[in-house]
Amino acid sequence: RDEITALPPWLKRSIGKASDISTVQRIIKQRNIHTICEEGRCPNRGECYANQTATFLLMGPICTRSCAFCQVDKGHAPMPLDADEPRKVAEAVQLLGLRYVVLTSVARDDLSDGGASVFVQTMQAIRQINPETLIEVLTPDFWGGKGGEITQKERVKIVTTAKPACYNHNIETVRRLQDPVRRGAKYDRTLNVLRWVKEFDSTIPTKSGLMLGHGETEDEIIETMRDLRGVECDRLTLGQYMRPSLDHLPVQKYWTPEEFDRLGEIAKTLGFLRVRSGPLVRSSYHAGE
Ligand code: SF4
Ligand code: SF4
Repeated sequence: RDEITALPPWLKRSIGKASDISTVQRIIKQRNIHTICEEGRCPNRGECYANQTATFLLMGPICTRSCAFCQVDKGHAPMPLDADEPRKVAEAVQLLGLRYVVLTSVARDDLSDGGASVFVQTMQAIRQINPETLIEVLTPDFWGGKGGEITQKERVKIVTTAKPACYNHNIETVRRLQDPVRRGAKYDRTLNVLRWVKEFDSTIPTKSGLMLGHGETEDEIIETMRDLRGVECDRLTLGQYMRPSLDHLPVQKYWTPEEFDRLGEIAKTLGFLRVRSGPLVRSSYHAGE
């Protein structure tokens, strides 16, 4: 598979106000906590910080799985838990005056509850000193290993019961490409997570997203949208996959802004209540709107 190397013009963008970015970097670094915004050098940082939104990466940046598209650190031992992390994140939320926070984590297959309780502790700590701030969770699939469907469901329940403003879990790609793109995850396992959230609390909005450019067809994308609607997923994000390094999967196609617009329209007709579709859209982009 040949890689397409030239970056199309619509993917080049200015990084935003350097002062906003350095303030966030300082507050995050001082506390030894992590954000996806900084860890992933997200192209939307300037915009999100100005909108008082950021995405915190809980439990450290080292993942126990190894998806071929993802740029988080993996392949060695995950970080020990920092019992003080919930407080530090809450403090950073306060200092940065964030109005909408996304909490996410790597897959922590080494922990007995997959990290579900850390999500809850962090939500509680944030709410204690930032009562107005809305919290979205973007969780891993919480798969509990062989025969682990019950554990997985219990973990989803733990997080759902803490009443996030939105429960987000990404399907990432179409059914056919799950194996090469998302090692260790499964299409139906992801659909189950979203289904269970609604089963536990139908008032919590659910959200999922795909990164396009792995060789999927339009029909396959539409099939995935239908499957997501089939588990009552309310919100959808579609963005362009960009290869983080030569060690990651090559980009098979850059979808054009017009194609993203068209897919976004299709998503709306299928019943998604909120749709973000564009080359630079990320799972947490404009999450607070
Ligand atoms: Fe952070 Fe998400 Fe915004 Fe990127 S899109 S800067 S990861 S909140
Ligand atoms: Fe990245 Fe999540 Fe896959 Fe870990 S499980 S490698 S964090 S996409």
